[in-house]
Amino acid sequence: LKEHNARSMWHPMAHPADSLANPPTIVTGAQGVRISDVDGHEVVDAVGGLWNVNLGFSCQPIKDAIAAQLDRLPYYSTFRGTTNDCVIELSEELRDFFAPDGLTRAFYTSGGSDSVETALRLARQYHKIRGEAGRTKFLSLKKGYHGTHIGGASVNGNANFRTQYEPLLPGCYQLPAPYTYRNPFNETDPERLAQLCLAALEDEIAFQGAGTIAAFIMEPVLGAGGVIPPHESFMPGVREICSKHGILLIADEVITAFGRTGSWTGSRHWGVQPDLMCTAKAITNGYFPFGAVMIAEGVAQVFEKDETGRAAIGHGYTYSGHPVGAAAALACLAETKRLDVPTNAAARGAELFAGLQKLAETHDVIGDVRGGHGLMCAVELVSDRAAKTPIDKATIGKVQEVAYQSGAMVRVSGPNIILSPPLVLTAEDVQVILSSLDKGFASI
Ligand code: PMP
Repeated sequence: LKEHNARSMWHPMAHPADSLANPPTIVTGAQGVRISDVDGHEVVDAVGGLWNVNLGFSCQPIKDAIAAQLDRLPYYSTFRGTTNDCVIELSEELRDFFAPDGLTRAFYTSGGSDSVETALRLARQYHKIRGEAGRTKFLSLKKGYHGTHIGGASVNGNANFRTQYEPLLPGCYQLPAPYTYRNPFNETDPERLAQLCLAALEDEIAFQGAGTIAAFIMEPVLGAGGVIPPHESFMPGVREICSKHGILLIADEVITAFGRTGSWTGSRHWGVQPDLMCTAKAITNGYFPFGAVMIAEGVAQVFEKDETGRAAIGHGYTYSGHPVGAAAALACLAETKRLDVPTNAAARGAELFAGLQKLAETHDVIGDVRGGHGLMCAVELVSDRAAKTPIDKATIGKVQEVAYQSGAMVRVSGPNIILSPPLVLTAEDVQVILSSLDKGFASI
């Protein structure tokens, strides 16, 4: 398997030449919150699949729902002139689920990147239908991650995911993120930094001209960029500025929706109602590639008819509204509510965050610890704490490797170790992650 993996797959992030885990880990099984590899090694998956396996790997109700749906209606899409009973039932459930976020309609996709692409397209088309065709630009945050399509790459805030694909969409601008550990203002107070970032946003809007901007897209807690939670005043501030200037607010909740922050959605965590919300990942707990863009009623109504009286939108996927995905999502939603996962995410997240802060007392390699909002945590590693020199790739790779050998799969992203375990984690599992990381840090 190891030899064939290198020979017949193109997956640069897991290629032996480029992988931090060298050779890459070949996962062959998963149960509960644990995964096992081809060598028979079993560890707690502190990555939670890829922030998506919120309920763990053994969710019988989802498996049963998928099997039943495969027997009854294995495929029919919502792309052109058709829909299906299962996806209608899901839409009604999502309408209830997202009612506190002010979102009433769902547009279905096959994953997070598709959800972002859909939201960007909807935003442009929304303004066009309303007679503001000049609103085409997008604003976002540095360090933000919005998937891999060209639209998503254009609003991404990490050079890594952009530069190789240039030229990207014109008219996309990234603003400073409320990242206290490193920011252009040298501001360490979260509230003051939030105000500075909001002022920078206002400044950029004035510079571009409000009437040229379609939407601002942000993650309520920045994820892949290194788990960067903003001050509580930040997202409400963004909402206010967007409303004032007629700019749509897109919440990219591909990671944060369905409980990860300890609230049911990241927007709700901050008391904000976005115009559009991108979801995917945990919507099916990793059992089926599926996503939904949730749309505020006022925005959806603009799409009901264009000036010729026809539905305006020319957008959809072969797998939009896939009934098997919808069945998986329905069962996943029911199970997520039954287990009240945000409550456990908040409790275990607090333990994990406190444990990481304690590790920082003994390991100088830890420059910053971020978390405090459910089960999204990161430690940023440095080779020199005072100078905040980012750690090199080989050293952080060693931490990951030793942590893995000691019982926990963790994720590396730049100088960060990111932790996003299943939300059904126990207190004992939290201790396994912490002790594995402790050994990882001690090894360097
Ligand atoms: N948006 C965010 C915030 C994400 O974290 C991700 C994936 N990590 C995406 C979009 C893209 O999702 P996908 O990988 O399912 O296309």
